[in-house]
Amino acid sequence: MHGLKQKALAVLKRFYGYDSFHPLQYQVIEHVMQGGDAVAIMPTGGGKSLCFQIPALLSPGCVIVVSPLLALMKDQVDALIANGIPAASVNSMQTEAQNRNVIDNVCAQNVKLLYISPERLLEDMNKWSQDLAVSLIAIDEAHCISHWGHDFRPEYSQLFLVKERFPGVPILALTATADRLTRIDIKKQLNIPDAKLFIKSLDRPNISLSVVSGLSGKQKLGRIVDFIEKHNGQSGIIYCLSRKNTETLAHNLNVLGIRAKAFHAGLPTSEKLKIQQEFINDDLAIICATIAFGMGIDKSNIRWIIHSNMPKNIESYYQEIGRAGRDGLKADALMFYSFGDVKTLMSFAHDSGQTLVEIEKLNRMQQFAEATVCRRRMLLSYFNERYDHDCHNCDVCNNPPDRFDGTALCQMAMSAMARTGQNVGFMTLIDILRGSRKSEIVAKGYDKIKTYGVGRDLSQAMWNAYLLQMLQLGLIYIAYEDGDHLKITDFGNEVLYGRSSVMLSRFYYENRVTDNNKKPKSTRVKKGRSLDLEDGVDEALFDVLRGTRSAIAKAAGVPPYVVFSDKVLMIMAAEKPTTKAQFATLYGVAEVKTERYWRQFTSAISQYLSQNAHKE
Ligand code: ADP
Ligand code: ZN
Repeated sequence: MHGLKQKALAVLKRFYGYDSFHPLQYQVIEHVMQGGDAVAIMPTGGGKSLCFQIPALLSPGCVIVVSPLLALMKDQVDALIANGIPAASVNSMQTEAQNRNVIDNVCAQNVKLLYISPERLLEDMNKWSQDLAVSLIAIDEAHCISHWGHDFRPEYSQLFLVKERFPGVPILALTATADRLTRIDIKKQLNIPDAKLFIKSLDRPNISLSVVSGLSGKQKLGRIVDFIEKHNGQSGIIYCLSRKNTETLAHNLNVLGIRAKAFHAGLPTSEKLKIQQEFINDDLAIICATIAFGMGIDKSNIRWIIHSNMPKNIESYYQEIGRAGRDGLKADALMFYSFGDVKTLMSFAHDSGQTLVEIEKLNRMQQFAEATVCRRRMLLSYFNERYDHDCHNCDVCNNPPDRFDGTALCQMAMSAMARTGQNVGFMTLIDILRGSRKSEIVAKGYDKIKTYGVGRDLSQAMWNAYLLQMLQLGLIYIAYEDGDHLKITDFGNEVLYGRSSVMLSRFYYENRVTDNNKKPKSTRVKKGRSLDLEDGVDEALFDVLRGTRSAIAKAAGVPPYVVFSDKVLMIMAAEKPTTKAQFATLYGVAEVKTERYWRQFTSAISQYLSQNAHKE
C-alpha cells in the first residue's frame, strides 16, 4: 500500500497545500480505503475532515457525509469548493428542486462529497439508484448517537439502517469527545462491531488555560475588559449561564465602547443567523452567548474563550474552550469562578433528574477551578489520558502557588462560624470577619461577637478564595437544605481545636494574571492588532494581507477563513512571496487557490515592499 501513501500525499498538497499528515490521519484514510469500518476520536482542530475528504479524492465514487449541523455543512461545502473539490449538500434550506438537482449530480458522478442530514439520508437513500457509487459513509459528530454522550439526537438513532442499505461500503464515525461507553454505543448503534478505533490525544496544547476566582461582578467586568483590550480585534466568545446574563454583559461592554452582541436560544432565528454570519465574516468580534452558540461553527480563528461563570461540568468546559484555536495558533481560555456559580449550578443539579451524577461532575469541575497543580494535567487525567509533565501553558504552571500554613486563618473563620451558631452563609461570614458595618450585621448583633473584624487585613477576594479552599479541603461544607449556611465538618473541628493543621495556597489578588500575559496594565498591547504574531512576521504587511483577504471573501460571498486561514496569512507575511512560483509553495496554498489568488496577494506584497523601500 506504499503507492496509496504517495497518492494521498500528492492529493494533500494539490488540494490543500499541506505537506504532511497530522497524526492518525493517514492511518484512518488507509484503513477505510481498504474497506474497513472505523471510529475516529480526535480533538477539535485535529483534522477529522481530511480523513473522509482524502478518500473521496482517491476513490471513483462519492463520499456521503452525515452531519447534524446545517451551518457546518455549508461551511465545509464552501471550503471544499474554494479548493476546487466538487462538493454539495442536500438540506432543508434549499428548495426541493435544488436538492433533486444535487442528487442528479451525485448520480452522474459529478460530486465527490455529499453532505446530508441524518433524517434526510434515511428518507432518501432507498429512493436512490442502486448503481450510485458510494465509496465511504462518514458519520460526523457520532457521539450524538449515544444516550451516554452529552448531545443525544434522536434522528441519529436510526442510522443502523445505513449499513443495511450500503452493506459493502465502509463507515467512518468521527467525534471529538466520546468516553468509553459512548464509543461502545457508536459501534453498536451503527452496526459496525468490528470497526477499528483510532484515538488521538485530546490535548490542545495551543490553548492557554486560566481561572480567576472570587471577584465581584464589577471586578469581573473590569477583568473582561482588560482581557478584551489585550486581545484587541480578535474573535472570541464569552459564555454566560443565562440569557439575561448574555444581554447584560453585551450591554455593559457596548457602554464601555466594546462592540459585542448577545446570542441565545430566545432570539428569532433570523437574528441568530445574522449574528452568526457577522461573527463568521469577522464583522463582529465578540459574542456573549449561552452554550447554544458555537456548535456547528467551523471558524478556525476564534482566538479566545471566556467563561463568565463556571460551566456545569468538565465535558462542557472542554468542548467550549475547544472552539478556540482550531488553526493551531495560540489561543486563550479564561474562566471566572465564584461561590455564587457553585450555588447556582448546585440548584440546577438539584432540579434535574440525574442529581447525583451531576453533583459529582460539578464537584470535579470545582476541583479543576481550584487546582493548585497544572490544569492541563487535571483535565487530561479527567479524560483518563496520561499526561506526565507540567504544561507550562496554564496559570498554575506560570504562577505556581505558594503554600503557607493556613491553620490560624482557618481557625479564625471557623471560630466566627461557631460563634454565630453556624447560622451564616459565605458573604455574611466574610462581612463578620472583615468587620462590616452593614445593617444586617449590626441588627443581628454579629458585631458583638469576639471574632468580629479579626480578618480585616484580608480583602474580600482573599477571604473568598480561602473559604473556597477550606470548602475543597473538607473543613467546612454548605448545608443546601439549611439556607446555604456554612457548617464545620469533623475535620474542621480538629483544625479549630488545634489537633490538625492545614496548608493553603497563597492567593495573590493582584498578581494572578488573567491570561498568562504577565504584562501590567500600563503596557497594554496596542490597538488594531489581531494576532500574537510569530517571529519574522511583518505586522503591517499582515494587516495589508488581511485587507486583501477580506476583499476577496466579500466579493466571493464566503467567510475570510475559507479564502485563507490566519496561519497561512501569517506565513505569507513572513515569506513575502512576490512571484506565482513562490506563492504556490506556501503552506496551505492549494493549486486552485494559487490560480485564483496569486495575483492579488503577490501584487499587494510587491506594492507594500516598494512603498516601504521608499521610506527607508
Ligand atoms: P476537526 O474537524 O477535527 O475539528 P478540521 O478537519 O476542521 O478539524 O481541521 C482543522 C484545521 O487543520 C483545518 O484548518 C485544516 O485545514 C487543518 N489541517 C487538517 N489537516 C492538516 C494537515 N495534515 N496539515 C496542516 N493542516 C491541516
Ligand atoms: Zn500547566
